[in-house]
Parts: sequence; structure tokens; C-alpha cells
Amino acid sequence: MPPEVVVPSAVAPDSDQAPVKCAIVLFGPPGSGKGTQSQFLIKRLGIPQISTGDMLREHIRCGDDIGQAIEQRMRAGLLVPDELVNVLVAERLSQPDTGRGFILDGYPRTSAQGRVLIDLLDRNNAEAVVIHLLVDYNIIIARITGRRQCPKCGTLYNLLSRPPKAAGVCDLDGEELIIREDDREQVIRERLDSYERQTSPLIAFFRETGRKMYEVDASRVTPVALSERICELLDCAAWSGKQKKPGHSQDGSRS
Ligand code: ADP
Repeated sequence: MPPEVVVPSAVAPDSDQAPVKCAIVLFGPPGSGKGTQSQFLIKRLGIPQISTGDMLREHIRCGDDIGQAIEQRMRAGLLVPDELVNVLVAERLSQPDTGRGFILDGYPRTSAQGRVLIDLLDRNNAEAVVIHLLVDYNIIIARITGRRQCPKCGTLYNLLSRPPKAAGVCDLDGEELIIREDDREQVIRERLDSYERQTSPLIAFFRETGRKMYEVDASRVTPVALSERICELLDCAAWSGKQKKPGHSQDGSRS
């Protein structure tokens, strides 16, 4: 049995202030394992994942106005407009299941989104803990081309590292697995380029705005080992919050 992990809070339990919610920001390039790690954290902490990619794909699947407006950009591996994503996240955060905290997967992805997130955190009484997943780009390309997803429940598989029990179908609901259109190699390169140009500058932004940020090597470890490491870091973040020294974590991994 893995050790129990508490949902990190920035305020000590004996404090008379309302507990601050933990916003776990899973940050890293496409294919770094944000979706897989979100699934582990959902099970472990019982807080919801907010995946902007999944929300956007759902609009495309429904064929509504938003879906039609963004389909071409997503197919090409380009980011969709900040205003749209910011509104989707703000609406999602107003739902009651985020009351104990939430996991952000794929948001923020631009500096403009980062600035909106700071405001959303304040309004939702939440404090961010950023987990930055570091992965070599060659490993990412090899990984993403083996990626498969259940179109019904969203579970992610990888033909190399996490194959389904029966070839081609979801373990949980038997649905036929799909390859995402934007997982073709040319599109992956475009997505990595977007990440370099538009998303990686957020690392400096998180530092400058004093967010708790931890870097983890996500290249050479199994998904289970990585999730253990992330939970250790979240425990550490909770501990440093309880000591009310958010700028001085005891963990050497703090970037
Ligand atoms: P990955 O992290 O592997 O790129 P996602 O499912 O998070 O996969 O994102 C898929 C696509 O959805 C992105 O390439 C982009 O087109 C769009 N997208 C997701 N999140 C955002 C965001 N925060 N801002 C803009 N576009 C986004």
C-alpha cells in the first residue's frame, strides 16, 4: 500500500483561517505524462483533473460553435485562443467538486493564461504547486506515436509502457481505442515548437511570481515511480505551507 497523501494545504489545520485549496499545476511539454499523472493523483487525492485539452476535444466531439471554431487549430497542433480557454477554466473552477482542490493539466500554457490563473487562484482561495515534468524531446516523439486513448472515458494507454490488457480496447469499458489526430509526428513537432515558444516562458513567470515549483525527471522512470515522487513533493509542499514559509521549501528539488 502506498503511504497516504493528504491534499496539500497552505494553511495549518489548527489555523482559524479557511483552508486554502491546492491547485496542482502539472506543467511540461506534450507527452511528458501530465494526463497519466493526473489519473494517479485523482485516485490518490480524490480531487478532479481539469484538462483543457479534454474540454476542448469534447467541444469538437459535440460539433458545437466552440468545437467548430477550434478544430483546425487543434488538428494543426496550434494553441487555441487564450480568451476561450480562460473562460472554460473559470467556469470549471466554479463547480463544487473543486472545493478541496484540483489538478490543472495543460493550463496555463501562455503568459496571458498564467496572469489569468493568478487571478483565478485568488478568487478561488487556492494556492498553486507547480510540478514541472522534464522529458527529452526525442523520448517524447517516441512516446506520443505509441499513445492511444479511450474516446469514452479518456483513459490513456501507451503501446510500449502501458498497453491495454486486450489489444486495441479500453480495460475499463471495452471501447475501441483511438489515436488522436494531433499525435502524428509532424503535428507533434509543431506542438513541441508551440511549447518552446509560448509555454516554456511560464517557468520564469512561476518563479517571478513566487509560486512553489518542483522539477522532476519524467524521462527515465516508470509512471508509478513518477507518481510516488510527485506525491512526496506534494507532501513537502504541504509541510512548507504549514510552516508558513512558502519561499523556503526543504526539498532539494525545488527549482
Ligand atoms: P498535450 O499536453 O499532449 O499537448 P493536450 O490534450 O493538453 O495535450 O492539448 C491538446 C491541444 O489542445 C493543444 O495542442 C492545443 O491545441 C489545445 N490546448 C490544450 N490546452 C490549451 C491551452 N491551455 N491553451 C491553448 N490551447 C490548448
